[in-house]
Amino acid sequence: MTGTAVARLSKRQILRQILNRSGGLRLLEAVPAWSGLVALNYHRIGAPTHSLLNHALWSASETDFDAHVRTLKSNFDLIGLNDLNAAIGDASRDATRRRHRFAMITFDDGYIDNYELAFPILQAHNAPATFFITTDFVGRRRLSWWDEIAWMVRSSPRRMLRLSTPWFDGSVDVPTEPSSVLIHRLLQTFYLLPAQQTENYLDWIAAATGSGRAPAVLSETLWMNWDQVNELADAGMGIGAHSVTHSVMTSLSAEEQLFEILESRLIIEHAIGRSVSTFSYPLGRRSTFNVETRNALSRAGFDWAFSQYGGFVSGQPADRFDIPRVAVETDLDLSDVRAICALPQAFARH
Ligand SMILES: [Zn+2]
Repeated sequence: MTGTAVARLSKRQILRQILNRSGGLRLLEAVPAWSGLVALNYHRIGAPTHSLLNHALWSASETDFDAHVRTLKSNFDLIGLNDLNAAIGDASRDATRRRHRFAMITFDDGYIDNYELAFPILQAHNAPATFFITTDFVGRRRLSWWDEIAWMVRSSPRRMLRLSTPWFDGSVDVPTEPSSVLIHRLLQTFYLLPAQQTENYLDWIAAATGSGRAPAVLSETLWMNWDQVNELADAGMGIGAHSVTHSVMTSLSAEEQLFEILESRLIIEHAIGRSVSTFSYPLGRRSTFNVETRNALSRAGFDWAFSQYGGFVSGQPADRFDIPRVAVETDLDLSDVRAICALPQAFARH
């Protein structure tokens, strides 16, 4: 993170605290200062206590998620996938005349806690949400690379990791460097690799940490199964595609992108017997999709695709293959989520 980003974050935090203490947040919620659609994105619900997997994936505890849903329901028109077309049209038509504010709750990847912990909370509030499924995780019980990297680092018996390779230079003192920092650094390198090099990179981390590759048993209970995804769909939740392998789209050729996008759609449609027309980009940053990804989405018959680098839909025709979402991460508390929704112009940008 740069110094500028730190300063900007601090200013936002100060503004949020002032709004919260002065009752300004409550006022903004009651008297809308914007119209449009804010979409929030979660990954895991619960707590990472003692987990050797990637703690950064836990977006909120059950209690916090319950509070988020309650706040969203009471202040916004909380919509599901079926209402997206109408809401986007409404949000794009006239931002000043209609103070109509929509919110969406989305989940990426397909973790089991989405079904076990988030789903009952959503049902208790009669709140819709949308779940984007990575088909190799749900259908083939594959471990995600961010969880495997975290597991290899956290399981390491070594005191010092020597990291001098084509990918990484230097050494890391494991006991003094927080494992979450090292995991983050290793992942940042992973994101830049062409898809054909990622297995070699994971093998190298396995050797450097002395942990070996993560055992397959780790992923057996990590993901929802198709019956559970079906149950979500039966209850009215939206189901979308999130690729087959969770590869970064821009690391793939045009044909490989088309395969990931089309195949994930076909697999999910076969499993749940419903049509799927919404995609969310793995990682969702601006740099993780390109014109070839958009072409592949068109050819595969998708109507919408969600990114995840912040922002919201308001006042202009929405880009149907770049519907913005705000990532809900562990360090955001309820007042952050309220601030994002009350004044996305200030808080929904990354
Ligand atoms: Zn994902």
